Amino acid sequence: MNEHDSERLAGVLEQDGLVAAAGLDDADVVVLNTCCIRENADNKLYGTLGHLKSVKDRRPGMQIAVGGCLAQKDRDGIRGRAPWVDAVWGTHNVDRAAGLLREAAVAGPLTEIAEEAAADPDAFGSSFGARREQAWSAWVTIQVGCDNACAFCIVPSVRGREVSRPFAKVVGEVEALVAEGTVEVTLLGQNVNSYGRDLTTNLRNEPRWRERSEITGSAWAAGERPRARPLFADLLRAVAGVEGLRRVRYTSPHPKDLRAETVAAMAEEPAVCEQLHLPLQAGSDRVLTEMRRGYTAGRYLEKLALARAGIADLAVTTDLIVGFPGETDADFAQTLEVVAEASYDSAYTFIYSPRQGTAAASDPSRFVAPGVIAERFERLKVVVEHSALAAHRQRVGRLEEVLVEGPSKRDPAMTTGRTRQGKLVHFPSPPKVAPAGAFADVVVTRAAPHFLVGELVEITTAPRHRTRIPVAAI
Ligand code: SF4
Repeated sequence: MNEHDSERLAGVLEQDGLVAAAGLDDADVVVLNTCCIRENADNKLYGTLGHLKSVKDRRPGMQIAVGGCLAQKDRDGIRGRAPWVDAVWGTHNVDRAAGLLREAAVAGPLTEIAEEAAADPDAFGSSFGARREQAWSAWVTIQVGCDNACAFCIVPSVRGREVSRPFAKVVGEVEALVAEGTVEVTLLGQNVNSYGRDLTTNLRNEPRWRERSEITGSAWAAGERPRARPLFADLLRAVAGVEGLRRVRYTSPHPKDLRAETVAAMAEEPAVCEQLHLPLQAGSDRVLTEMRRGYTAGRYLEKLALARAGIADLAVTTDLIVGFPGETDADFAQTLEVVAEASYDSAYTFIYSPRQGTAAASDPSRFVAPGVIAERFERLKVVVEHSALAAHRQRVGRLEEVLVEGPSKRDPAMTTGRTRQGKLVHFPSPPKVAPAGAFADVVVTRAAPHFLVGELVEITTAPRHRTRIPVAAI
């Protein structure tokens, strides 16, 4: 979400006439788009601002801005600690970035923080004009904010209540992207499978919205079993049906809200990839209750079994927190058991990071000792890598459809791409033979816990996207 906000920010600034600088020494404007999900980001922000002060002292005309979650959380505190910052804006003010920089240039330093995403369906959350890093693959926001209250999570307090983008706006944006050559989209939201819940409430309360089927779509109301609101599955099917789109992914769903309709849409829509990111967080029911996650380990495994039974060749990934306050050895042992049973293709493992204002951070006496966390973290990594390697070994010898991303970062002689399951594949090929955005058939020859290695068989589809040429280069 934060990375896509950066793309939206870059798009807003480019539309205002700014051009991306080659580096800090060439920049007239520096924007730090922050994330506060983990404590480290706080420390990094103020360290970076300290460095930027010395740059600005040499070049007083330079503007410095801070946006994103940390700005939403710390507000005027940022300019209090770093008075050389020119503009501070929140998570809901991205569209105002260029205007705020202009206003700050005239009137002096300012802060603008909106508490909530604009509730007006015409105003909220467009990613149109975003300066996307990859023209062939795009994130599309379908929802911002979160109505859950997980005890470790700061997101609800910095991103606000859940707000879904109107159905037709999401589909329209995907159609526009595909017309420009995008072949893969990832639908983004804090809790994607609750998409649409707020739209129905708004329709009930706002008479002027009632006639507007573009807000909620209409296919959901016309089926054999018409419903009062669109589900995430309805949106998934509508997006997957956009002609020319080859791959649809989404992140992140909440296990408690994963419905059979979503599994059916994934199984039946050819464009929806066989990839499910289902955050477990912990395997102990006691810890899950304290985390306020709304499911038990058993219920989670049932949902996972439903998804695996419905979707052939499904890759499953997860998020796990080690050292949640009060986590005992017995709790952690249950996490290891559930992780082993779930047989993940990979997992994002995090050391618990206390965030001020969250329920879990209120009692430091329950924090787990760093040495204990470090030891548990290593044990968890071993279990995850074991199942990841086993899943990857099963793919050796198979022909995979790979969407090419470009030369490998580590070895430019290798090209990198992703399979439909989201797995990274490296294969030898000069970039001109397998250009970014092309589809290639690759035979997998070797497996590692975090990637696959293969041999290029053939390019099956040439890139369709247009290449952006910077105006300054003409
Ligand atoms: Fe945070 Fe929980 Fe909402 Fe995810 S579902 S954003 S972890 S509060």
